[in-house]
Amino acid sequence: MRCRICGAPAAINMRQHKLALCRAHFVDWIPEQTERAIDHYKMADRGEKLLVAVSGGKDSLALWDVLHRLGYAADGVYIDLGIDEGIGYSGKSRALCESFAAARGLNLQVVSVPAVYGASIPDVAKKSMRGRRKPCSVCGLVKRHIMNRICREQGYAALATGHNLDDEAAVLLHNAMTWSGGYLVRQAPVLAATRPGLARKIKPFCRIYERETAAYALMQKIEYIYEECPYSEGSSTLYYKEILNRMEEDRPGAKLQFYLAFLQAKDQGLFAPGASGESDLHECAQCGQPTSAPGKCAFCRLWENATPPGLRPPSP
Ligand code: SF4
Ligand SMILES: [Zn+2]
Ligand SMILES: [Zn+2]
Repeated sequence: MRCRICGAPAAINMRQHKLALCRAHFVDWIPEQTERAIDHYKMADRGEKLLVAVSGGKDSLALWDVLHRLGYAADGVYIDLGIDEGIGYSGKSRALCESFAAARGLNLQVVSVPAVYGASIPDVAKKSMRGRRKPCSVCGLVKRHIMNRICREQGYAALATGHNLDDEAAVLLHNAMTWSGGYLVRQAPVLAATRPGLARKIKPFCRIYERETAAYALMQKIEYIYEECPYSEGSSTLYYKEILNRMEEDRPGAKLQFYLAFLQAKDQGLFAPGASGESDLHECAQCGQPTSAPGKCAFCRLWENATPPGLRPPSP
């Protein structure tokens, strides 16, 4: 197989695009495609200051690399969740993010959840709802809260996450299986800042396959953490990804078509306005961030129940 552009031996064949490329052309193709998505979905303007949420995994580090190469002013934020049992997941992924940033002269902010808030994610999960709460639900809530706070306090125009097409298609399939109207309405390449205090969220890799972000990271020699977080085992997202991979095997492009047809249907008014529940947002009485919960937001209530009185989330 040969590169379609230069005829050199191909490094990757993308069946869904009927496109094979050599290494040099592939590592330029990914930024081109990313920029097209940024423009198409009006994610960000060139002069805007972006914050990239990095986890140490291939997608988020590849995204930071691509945004940097495209000339965006993009800082990184790493949230240390205190997941250190077993392989030392948090310590390892944090070190990889730090060395990535140092090698490129990029600015990385590190927020340690145990140091700032007094307990690790597994500890908070254990103390929350008498241990019935799963670390992932606590983790998602905490990460969203902290990232929104940093964007808000430090004037970033948008928070960029490394979600790829496989992530988006798996979430879409999950939500479609349960017809979760609110989630389906909110799933989009850009989540606009619909009210003050809420950061715009963008997913520049939403049309890029996971195998392509992995190939890009490899070809760009980006060191990333291969191990998954120990709590990801048995997650429904992995299950739906497997199903979609089987479909893709039979019909190249199935995932992309599934996702893009969904976005198109939404544009054409498939979902009624107002179903997202966003209009009910108000400011949390404790931290001032937008919330739909009455009184204090879910983040503040979580920490109130899980930590001693001295260690409470900071007020605005
Ligand atoms: S798998 Fe769960 S606990 Fe681990 S980083 Fe992801 S959301 Fe957090
Ligand atoms: Zn080539
Ligand atoms: Zn709050």
